[in-house]
Formats: sequence, structure tokens, C-alpha cells
Amino acid sequence: MTSLQRRMEKIYQKMSKVPERRCLGCMKSFPKKDLIRFVKSDEGICMDLDQKKDGRGFYLCRNESCLNKAIKKRAFERAFSMDLDMGFFDFIREEMD
Ligand SMILES: [Zn+2]
Repeated sequence: MTSLQRRMEKIYQKMSKVPERRCLGCMKSFPKKDLIRFVKSDEGICMDLDQKKDGRGFYLCRNESCLNKAIKKRAFERAFSMDLDMGFFDFIREEMD
């Protein structure tokens, strides 16, 4: 690799830096915009589709296998420190379709 190529690569890496968040299911990091954000509010946990709501948010990949992983690990309950019923997860599942 020439020094010019190396420099170009560095610049490219800087440009492609996007905010990443970790998925509650697979625990891998992805660009925020590819994930679904969840926020705890007064009414419970809601999906924050615009990713603009205040509060501590948690993220999940937009696929059912990550949702199932998160349910199995009780990742949501732990992240939000509250009990959740299956209806909530059914709701998310429907939103993913
Ligand atoms: Zn995931």
C-alpha cells in the first residue's frame, strides 16, 4: 500500500463514521438508523421510530431472531428494569413485518 492509499483510507474511515448502538438480541453494534429504538416512558416502553424521544433508549435489530434472543435472555426486562408481558413482544413482532 502506498502512503497515498493509506491516507485515503484514513480519510474514508473518518467519513464513514456513523453512530453505532448495540442490539439487545445479538449484542452486536450497528448503525443507529438500522436499528429499532425503544424508550421507557410513563406508559411503559414504546418504540421510538424517529429516534428522537428523550430518555434512555435501547436498540434492537429489525429482525425476529434478535427479538427472540432478547426475549429469551430477558434483555428487555433487564435493560428497562421492569416486567413485560408477551403482548408487548407480539406488538414489536407485528411492527417488524
Ligand atoms: Zn441484533
